[in-house]
Amino acid sequence: AFTVIILGVIGARSFWIQGIQADDMATRPLLVRLPQTEPHRVNNPRLTAIAQRIPRGRILDSTGAVLAETRDGRRVYPCGEACAQLVGWLDARFGGPTGAEARYNRRLRGYDSTRDLLHLYRRKDLPFFRLPEGQDVTLTISREAQQRALRAIRRAYPNGNTAFVLIEPDSGHVLVAAGTPTFDPNQMNPALWQQLRTRKDAPLVFRPVDGLYAPGSVFKVVTAAAALEKGVPLRHLCRHSERNVRWKVGDKTFVKPRLSDHPSMRAHGTLGLRDAMRLSCNLYFAHLAIALQPESLYETASALGFQRIPKPDEMAPELPDCGFGQGKILASPLEVANLMATIARNGTWRRAVFTPGNNPSRPVLSDATAEALRQMLGEVVQTGTAYGIFTGTGWEVYGKTGTAETSEGNRKPHGWFAGVVQKDNLPPLAFALILEHGGSGREAARASRKILQQVLPVLQKR
Ligand SMILES: [Zn+2]
Repeated sequence: AFTVIILGVIGARSFWIQGIQADDMATRPLLVRLPQTEPHRVNNPRLTAIAQRIPRGRILDSTGAVLAETRDGRRVYPCGEACAQLVGWLDARFGGPTGAEARYNRRLRGYDSTRDLLHLYRRKDLPFFRLPEGQDVTLTISREAQQRALRAIRRAYPNGNTAFVLIEPDSGHVLVAAGTPTFDPNQMNPALWQQLRTRKDAPLVFRPVDGLYAPGSVFKVVTAAAALEKGVPLRHLCRHSERNVRWKVGDKTFVKPRLSDHPSMRAHGTLGLRDAMRLSCNLYFAHLAIALQPESLYETASALGFQRIPKPDEMAPELPDCGFGQGKILASPLEVANLMATIARNGTWRRAVFTPGNNPSRPVLSDATAEALRQMLGEVVQTGTAYGIFTGTGWEVYGKTGTAETSEGNRKPHGWFAGVVQKDNLPPLAFALILEHGGSGREAARASRKILQQVLPVLQKR
């Protein structure tokens, strides 16, 4: 079970929820989920004694490297700060178990419920009695890739907060989910805990999965997918800025006094979908959203796995903004990376997972739509907004920049880049990076290159 908590604010309100304060962080609301603590607390000291004698399983990465194990009665986390929020920690004094320690707690601890402990307690003096053992849990991530990603993130964006996700589309396995700020769970103590839970930059939040941000222009990929699927073609004359934009949803008419492209851009002139994507024209996608209507955009976004999309009636009053990923549209880095994975998979959707196992898929986009999107996103990298960034890497990359305006007018917008990278000897890999207040999608594309340069060589060895 997960609890939705809200971090960050619109305007001057502030929330204190589950002890985490964040009054001026983020921008748009950054919504996060934190795992609830164990529902079963063992209060009987005899049962506690039994529980403590059951060796707890280890948490391992995809190569068998240890992410968490018990040494001399103490839980240790060899991945350290690179996996802090993902692997989590056990200690109940510090809100534990959290992360994977919480999610797989039953398997790791070796018993299901207090009732199981009672059975064990009653049989403990019988001949041939043996205590059960906690099972190991294997995650899909790579410890070395996590650590390399964190180092590269810090070099690329030293003073900012970030989240990076890398997915193998063929399996849906999450190979990397890292970000900043972070901390070393091995160093946890009451003073550090107190600091972590009250810091305004919310280091306890697992940003790759639980951080929800305005996706900005990376969401144009979803709007384009909806238009291709529903057969809604559009050509539009972009004059950089428009006044009194009107649209209808059902029998309601809405008006927006002013709508414009990013200030650094000039008027794009008459555009079709390909050039609008390549040049990231907001006005085009605003009109495309109007042509699509909220129902179609909502349907496509939901099918692609976006869980925080406003319902069609909530979308209606801000439909043009929704078309380019602003308004009330929110997405996690994992959702954005999985959008790219879906395009790499020829339109087949599959959950992005942290443990291997049965992972059914379902078709959400046609082959033709997926192919058209790959072409367009290729042009973004070749001649569009991410032009030149990946030159000289020898990789094939397609992707989308995003510069997401935030409600804090005095802070820089978030920078996004999400795409697919193909390198010799590796399957295609989908990724997403957000630099909170990183300024622009181009900055995020540059940082993506630096992170991938560190991470891909380790994956090649698998
Ligand atoms: Zn434009």
